[in-house]
Amino acid sequence: MKIQENNIDSGVIFSYTPENADYLGTELKLFSNDDSKNNEIGFLKSVLVTLIEYNPEKEIAVYIGNDVIFVDCGENFNNVYCPKCSTEITEDWQDFMGKASENNFKDLEIKTKCCDFKTDLNSLNYDEKCGFSKVVFTINSYDPNSISKLIDAIWKKHNLQLIPILAKY
Ligand SMILES: [Zn+2]
Repeated sequence: MKIQENNIDSGVIFSYTPENADYLGTELKLFSNDDSKNNEIGFLKSVLVTLIEYNPEKEIAVYIGNDVIFVDCGENFNNVYCPKCSTEITEDWQDFMGKASENNFKDLEIKTKCCDFKTDLNSLNYDEKCGFSKVVFTINSYDPNSISKLIDAIWKKHNLQLIPILAKY
């Protein structure tokens, strides 16, 4: 299997592109908040290899950033809710995001305006999950029905808990 390395200003991308990969405009993103593993490039490449073994016909990549990035879900993004009182806080969320991005998402802690609840941007309730991480795996044109099996396989083989995001563009 041929894995390409692409060094960019914000980090490095390892990618696998099979011939005739289909492109449906959907993307499965998998991220981890395990900081002890998010700096281990060799480990992350071995996880990438497992993902490729499970999906040899898909275009697959891992982005390993210098800083935390917002892992978005594209058109699937809808509303954001307070995890404590369930108030919709989509507008406040824009402000929280603005502030957090000024600091390259180093500090994700917030206090909700609805009920003064101290939490962080990863712990809010999103209609479709999105998140924040230095490391993001992406699988193009993924079948949503196979996701839990794939996450289980990575957990068993690499002891890494991946969080899925279904993105659409
Ligand atoms: Zn609240």
